[in-house]
Amino acid sequence: MRIEAIGCEPNLIKRFALENSTRLDVVRKHGAYDMARKAVTTMSPAAVIDEVKKSALRGRGGAGFPTGMKWGFVPKDSPKEKYLVINGDESEPGTFKDRYIYERDPHLLLEGCLISCYAIGARTCYIYSRGEYKYLIDILDRAIEEARAAGFIGEKLFGTDFSCEMHTTTGAGAYICGEETALLNSLEGLRGHPRMKPPFPAVSGLYGCPTVVNNVETIAAVPWIIEHGGDAYRALGTEKSGGTKMWSVSGHVKYPGVYELPMGYDNLEKFIMEDCGGIPNGRKLKAVIPGGSSVYIMPASDIIGKKVLMDYEGLVVAGSMVGSGGMIVMDDTVDIFESTKNLTEFYKHESCGWCTPCREGTDWLVKVFKRIANGDGRIEDAQLLLDICDNIEGKSFCPLGDAAAWPIQSAIKKFPEDFKKHLVPMLQQDAIAAD
Ligand code: SF4
Repeated sequence: MRIEAIGCEPNLIKRFALENSTRLDVVRKHGAYDMARKAVTTMSPAAVIDEVKKSALRGRGGAGFPTGMKWGFVPKDSPKEKYLVINGDESEPGTFKDRYIYERDPHLLLEGCLISCYAIGARTCYIYSRGEYKYLIDILDRAIEEARAAGFIGEKLFGTDFSCEMHTTTGAGAYICGEETALLNSLEGLRGHPRMKPPFPAVSGLYGCPTVVNNVETIAAVPWIIEHGGDAYRALGTEKSGGTKMWSVSGHVKYPGVYELPMGYDNLEKFIMEDCGGIPNGRKLKAVIPGGSSVYIMPASDIIGKKVLMDYEGLVVAGSMVGSGGMIVMDDTVDIFESTKNLTEFYKHESCGWCTPCREGTDWLVKVFKRIANGDGRIEDAQLLLDICDNIEGKSFCPLGDAAAWPIQSAIKKFPEDFKKHLVPMLQQDAIAAD
């Protein structure tokens, strides 16, 4: 497993390689909590938000929403308690970057939480992780205790009136709890169903109070922004997508791992074929899902020789999305029908059942996939799959419905031959029967 920065100085991962990097005494020697002190003692909350706005930091969980703008939606004059909730659910298939922040530098996240709480006027931060991350939560809990003992968490921090408490909490491993409002329900002890929006969490979130929900990597970027300024952070990336981003790379590359790249890295082909070592065993690149399983699949022909820039805009132009940055690389041994069937079974299993298009639609999709896989497919089944997707996409209550439809739509469009070959035996049988 490689952990490396390419095309930029290590920023998020700079303390990962230190011996005992989870320990406060180790990371204090490398500046941990200095930026929290700077923000709380020398900057106003509005000035912190301004720097984050200038930085063009965008949410790293998948949606890519501008972080400073999200913080700015929290009503300053609300008499209610305000909360910061960290989304560490990280259940998107192919995505495993946040867990390395937990595992290698939990104090980076905690420092980012402190600064973010100060900026939005929150005194309490909940760090919500998927239940399967229990071993990581233990690391985080130890880090919180260390920070509390050292006076970085608790009452009247850095000699000011700013107080901040932090708590870890877990879900039970449901994919839907990565959706921010389902996460809030889960945090309140309710079933993990999404909530109607509006009202958005910034106005009415946890316990009906103004709440910012941000991804782990997003908040871990904040100390760097305070240290160097929003303009410097933006300059690391592009005008619309500032800074650096962590990509988790799995599948058929020589060096799978977690890579930190500047936003707008040039380019996707170079990244896969050179930085990640290319495709092993003499095979050829067939397809890439660049941003977690919910984004459009890209055939090699959309990548090789195309100079696809690795940022929100560049990947959209190329026909996919940054998503969570969970990149899955597939060589020419992969049957895209089979890989898409596998993903569809995942989405059917994870559908929370709240709305009909997703609950029924994902079930129908799996039934059709299974029928085809069993050799009972019909030539019109590819269109049937697309019709079902059309009745899910844009008609479901939350983005999971779209997430289930997009991989199928793009797989059939980009790899029709992989679907056809599962239907041909049936056609041949029909021909034989007609003789
Ligand atoms: Fe639940 Fe799926 Fe509807 Fe989202 S789209 S609310 S996951 S049933």
